[in-house]
Amino acid sequence: MALANENYLKTPEIYCYDEIDKRVNAYKVLHPSAKIIRLGMGDVTRPLPQEVIKALHSAVDEMAAEGSFKGYGPPSGYDFLIEKIHKEYKSIGVSLDKESIFINDGAKSDIGNIGHVLGRDNIIAIADPVYPVYENATIMSGRAGFLNEEDQKWSNIVYLHCSAETGFVPSLPNERVDVIYLCNPNNPTGTVLTKSDLKQWVDYAIEHQSIIVYDGAYESFINEPNVPKSIYEIKGAKKVAVEIRTYSKSAGFTGLRCGYSVFPPELMVYTKLGEDVPLIKLWNRRITNYTNGVSYLVQRAAEALYSRKGKQETSELVDYYIENAKLIRDGLLALGFEVYGGISSPYVWFKTPNGMSSWKFFHQLLYEHEVIGTPGVVFGSSGEGYMRFTGFSSRENTLIALNRISRGKY
Ligand SMILES: *Cc1c(COP(=O)(O)O)cnc(C)c1O
Repeated sequence: MALANENYLKTPEIYCYDEIDKRVNAYKVLHPSAKIIRLGMGDVTRPLPQEVIKALHSAVDEMAAEGSFKGYGPPSGYDFLIEKIHKEYKSIGVSLDKESIFINDGAKSDIGNIGHVLGRDNIIAIADPVYPVYENATIMSGRAGFLNEEDQKWSNIVYLHCSAETGFVPSLPNERVDVIYLCNPNNPTGTVLTKSDLKQWVDYAIEHQSIIVYDGAYESFINEPNVPKSIYEIKGAKKVAVEIRTYSKSAGFTGLRCGYSVFPPELMVYTKLGEDVPLIKLWNRRITNYTNGVSYLVQRAAEALYSRKGKQETSELVDYYIENAKLIRDGLLALGFEVYGGISSPYVWFKTPNGMSSWKFFHQLLYEHEVIGTPGVVFGSSGEGYMRFTGFSSRENTLIALNRISRGKY
């Protein structure tokens, strides 16, 4: 009899976005001609940069010819792309070993995969509200303990409660934690950790021999000078942090799939006897045994983002979404909403009117204005009473949605 990994049964059966779709579809059945606008989605909508398309075409041609055909590549990625990433870090004053950079098929994979190289008994800390994958990966890997039915919290996860009082920035835990997931700028709140905020976390991790899994998916959206682009800008961070980045949101790679993770050789984890082990050593074993790397075509596409034209096209994409987020932010502020984010992030986080629940306000927006947001509560119980809009829609739809919302009474 083949036994199931029952930890997988402990995560919710449907991903939060399916629940939203279900409710939107119910509305559509009754209002088939409705022109619904989605300001809730976490996916980009603009096509890929031209430089990427050119690189893809020429890589396809290489694959078609005998002299330039490529079979298996290096499991951790091609040098041509690693070189570019290495140089990009150098330009912000961070010098990394090239061996510490691992190309992947997007951030989500490594957010989950990193659990494989960490001991089962680690105590995991995650912000609340935050990107749901950190919690689900913890549950599926069997590290979450027991679910408290009352507050829907897991016994072995330390939740870093974020609220309006702290500007939706997580504060240090009172107890010892071993692995800390930090997302900066944060999804869903759009809020940021400044250099001094992040220094506290690095110092905490050094003191407690913990590690930080730093999700920098929105690094390209940062445009405030006191917010670090990389955690390695903080002194000592190489000893405690893995940094995960992706081309998904900045360059429209959500469908193409490419990103990278950094495992500095200084970063140690510990055996039960207290001996230190470089995490990169375990990661290399994982990579060589569990993957043959990312498609050559996709890595050539990512490389194209580092040319002068590629950089320009990427920054145009980012600016487009940031401008949408700014319009949303300003529009909501003008209507009297309490608003967070939307400055160094495509996400705008705001309080529902009159203490309404997230789902109730979701329905009000849908039924009165045919606009969809993401209920804050799907990102954790501290998100209850809040809503997330994103700048990932088209400019036109963003403006129409704002206009519709401005006609409401709150
Ligand atoms: C979108 C997103 C990801 C996933 O990125 P992929 O590279 O497409 O897998 C990871 N982390 C956060 C916080 C995200 O919002």
